[in-house]
Amino acid sequence: MIIPKNPQLTDEEFQIIKKIVNEFGCDVTPIPGETMTVYAIRGDERNELMINRLEGLPFVAKVDTIQSPYKLMDIKSELSKNRFKIAGKTPGEELIVIAGHCTIDPKNPQLFLETAHAIKEAGADVLRGGVWKPRTSPHTYQGDSKAIEILLEARDTYNIPVITEVMDEEQLEIAIASKVDMIQIGARNALNYSLLKKIGELTQFSRIPVLLKRGMHMGPVDEFICAAEYIVSHGNPNVVLCPRGTVPTINGYRNYPDECITPLLKQKTWAPVIVDPSHSVGRSIYVPHAALAAIAYGADGLIIETHIKSQEGIGDDPKQAIHPSTLAQIIEDAKPLFYNVKKYQKTYMSELQNA
Ligand code: PEP
Ligand code: MN
Repeated sequence: MIIPKNPQLTDEEFQIIKKIVNEFGCDVTPIPGETMTVYAIRGDERNELMINRLEGLPFVAKVDTIQSPYKLMDIKSELSKNRFKIAGKTPGEELIVIAGHCTIDPKNPQLFLETAHAIKEAGADVLRGGVWKPRTSPHTYQGDSKAIEILLEARDTYNIPVITEVMDEEQLEIAIASKVDMIQIGARNALNYSLLKKIGELTQFSRIPVLLKRGMHMGPVDEFICAAEYIVSHGNPNVVLCPRGTVPTINGYRNYPDECITPLLKQKTWAPVIVDPSHSVGRSIYVPHAALAAIAYGADGLIIETHIKSQEGIGDDPKQAIHPSTLAQIIEDAKPLFYNVKKYQKTYMSELQNA
């Protein structure tokens, strides 16, 4: 990664750098942050001659050559200084709660609007609503682009930012054109590298936060972090990691709850962690336990399927959505826990950074 002396390179300086890295078979992508732009070298950046030539340039402060498969996501990367906000909150400083329907029912917009109102009253920061749905069976409801209008109406009516999942480039373009506040990449697409690259490219300058769910078949934690590296290396540093349960399942739960990987993620990478307890345990009665466990493990926030009348919902809602009154209780209980747990996290993170 190239760190410039000034907050960003001029076009002319960028072209000089591009020419050098191209000579060594690499490419370079600007990664704009809040206060400065860094430049990711894509490819094998360990060539000493290339590094020497880059470091010899008067406008380059340094070239970081972290030996890690996820050199940008790495806790030691310059990007650990990158800060961004979700609903006006800096992750890590305040608890962030995302709540709403698994699936927006286009036939019943009123239900979604009522939920939006109720989750805002309950203290949620961001409203979730599935427009396009990755369903296991092709015979079940697959989503409908019209539902995005309902999502936007709820945002405008209740003045709350919104997140929705996209599964392909066309949906991504619609979501970006609709100015959604956050984009979700679901478990099924967590290893769709072409889509991850495309998201990085198309959100490079807007830097819309991207919530990346952990793939349910993902093995090592590093595989998850590398998936996020695809988004960052293509231009958008504002990624959030979201454990949501994996397979094999625990008999009785939808998946194998994996909020316990949060401290590992915190040690390896700077990215905020927002846990999804809904898809992990898969039943509303277990969700408060999994949600508070996630906070105890040091998560920065929660994304919880919540519905005003879950039995009238579609998709996952009848089974796993909690009521907004339960959400309010979870938020009340989670807040003091969040601040207590951050104490422990700060200690081991500073030990790690000084190691
Ligand atoms: C969802 O959030 O409704 C969803 C489909 O999530 P996941 O990708 O984690 O299954
Ligand atoms: Mn769902």
